[in-house]
Amino acid sequence: MTQSTAELETLLMQRSLSDPELLAKAAQAADYRILPDATVIKIGGQSVIDRGRAAVYPLVDEIVAARKQHKMLIGTGAGTRARHLYSIAAGLNLPAGVLSQLGASVADQNAAMLGQLLAKHGISAVEAAGMSAVPLFLAEVNAVVFSGMPPYKLWMRPAADGVIPPYRTDAGCYLVAEQFGCKAMIYVKDEQGLFTGNPKTDKHATFIPRISVDEMKAKGLHDSILEFPMLDLLKNSLHVREVQVVNGLVPGNLTRALAGEHVGTIITAS
Ligand code: ADP
Ligand code: MG
Repeated sequence: MTQSTAELETLLMQRSLSDPELLAKAAQAADYRILPDATVIKIGGQSVIDRGRAAVYPLVDEIVAARKQHKMLIGTGAGTRARHLYSIAAGLNLPAGVLSQLGASVADQNAAMLGQLLAKHGISAVEAAGMSAVPLFLAEVNAVVFSGMPPYKLWMRPAADGVIPPYRTDAGCYLVAEQFGCKAMIYVKDEQGLFTGNPKTDKHATFIPRISVDEMKAKGLHDSILEFPMLDLLKNSLHVREVQVVNGLVPGNLTRALAGEHVGTIITAS
């Protein structure tokens, strides 16, 4: 056992697991990224997949072409069917943990459909992104599809108010990127990126090419294009310190973002 492992072990045996000295020691190990060459892409549920063929087919073509150069973990959103389920379940007074399972089932449906469309290109959908055969798929065919909802299910941490699960597919996909130490996180949605207001309802909204989490909160935009708990996950991250939101309805945007180009809004941890 190395000197520092022994010291850490002593602290762990004696202290509370939230002791500041213990936490500092536990964080001292050198950085390690599990899948540093892969990019996580989230294909929006409501914003993209619910639009059907017109939105999905061109993205499938882009993904197939892009995997010659890029390793991609492709997560799915849930969208309108999940919102419908949430409205029924909330009306029945069911809790966040149950709504979380319902939402996950819709993200699963979207992963199943995307997986079938990519099947003839040798790209598979996996049941759980939390490892399984993900590294093997990435090594062999450079891409894999997963269901974006984080698997908290009944153990979903409820929001302060209401029963809508606060950690949904934006958070689920981000956590995959962050935990695996991936290269980048790209959100594929239906707007150029973040605006000063919802561009669907605010005609005067202007585009914001780059913004930090703190600036987003200061402008009251914390609950806009990404699920709000995502911002704190990003702020406290070790690996994926920025994410990009792009308009997947514009052909070529995803490919350009994969190449590191700035085509949408970049949201930074600091
Ligand atoms: P997903 O399909 O990934 O779940 P959402 O539909 O939840 O995506 O989020 C994208 C939507 O967020 C956009 O279609 C847009 O209408 C809405 N939105 C709300 N506020 C903003 C904002 N300030 N800037 C950009 N989009 C916004
Ligand atoms: Mg959403």
